[in-house]
Amino acid sequence: AKTAGRNGFCQFIPAHQAAARARRELASDLREALANDQFQLLYQPIVRLDDLAVVKAEALIRWHHPRLGLIPPDRFIPLAEEINLIGEIGDWVFRQASHDVVVWNDARSPGSPVIQVSVNKSPRQILTGKSEEIWLNHLTESAIPPEYVAIEITEGLLLDASAEVVRKLEAFRRSGVQISLDDFGTGYSAMAYLKKFAIDTLKIDRSFVKDMLSNPSDRAIVEAVIAMAHKLGIQVIAEGVETEAHSTALSEAGCDFGQGYHFARPMPADAFEIFLAQRSNE
Ligand code: C2E
Ligand code: CA
Ligand code: CA
Ligand code: CA
Repeated sequence: AKTAGRNGFCQFIPAHQAAARARRELASDLREALANDQFQLLYQPIVRLDDLAVVKAEALIRWHHPRLGLIPPDRFIPLAEEINLIGEIGDWVFRQASHDVVVWNDARSPGSPVIQVSVNKSPRQILTGKSEEIWLNHLTESAIPPEYVAIEITEGLLLDASAEVVRKLEAFRRSGVQISLDDFGTGYSAMAYLKKFAIDTLKIDRSFVKDMLSNPSDRAIVEAVIAMAHKLGIQVIAEGVETEAHSTALSEAGCDFGQGYHFARPMPADAFEIFLAQRSNE
């Protein structure tokens, strides 16, 4: 199939090579990004649905590339996993987020609820890294209360979960760091995981929440997941809450927490601190 002249074929190779080259460049830029201070964490508020108090925030990473501008995580986290940078990036995220959550809690007015930050943990990272030791040591050394922090994992991680993964997750939970199951419902056999792994919270994926008002099946699934989780002693966060009507329906279904553009978009740490202060004055 080496015959030149067929247009599609001739154009394919240069385009493919260009893409491969762009990827290599992105990978080498990514290796410099930590040292050059190009990462930022944004925080998206998570509210308690019964009183709309802000009680948690999810840390979401951004990369400010010097030439390409803002790069969203979906475009560089998989690359970071591939080139073995995810450990270092994840450690940075954990340190930064656990630093910021202490600042918010120190500024909290008496009687207002504890603020918890949740960080996303890449499957690759928990499978290969030693992060649970590093992270738990960091909390101890910096005297950060473990209940300030939660870790979000995806079902993908649990798919090939070995005794090793179970042990690592249990190490977090024993220390008081909560484990949250992310994107619930999008994985392969969600129910099997609930049986096998002790988790504190599950996050119903936005794809179910999005259509729950127009699609009775989606609504039934959301309601059933909430009821089932509660029977297992698990709290529920709904993702992708974009309207008041969603928030109300979720609250009526007994959902514990909501996260989404209806409440707030992800924002820098200082903006989140102001957001918190304003909300607790209302
Ligand atoms: P995720 O963990 O499912 O995070 C939620 C994503 O949904 C975020 O996208 C958030 O901005 C977006 N979102 C929040 N509310 C709404 C809403 O109401 N409507 C819609 N349409 N979207 C909403 P983002 O920040 O682009 O992050 C994408 C993914 O990248 C995350 O999905 C997570 O898997 C990954 N990620 C982000 N930060 C990190 C990190 O520090 N480490 C790792 N390993 N992965 C991360
Ligand atoms: Ca997440
Ligand atoms: Ca999610
Ligand atoms: Ca997701």
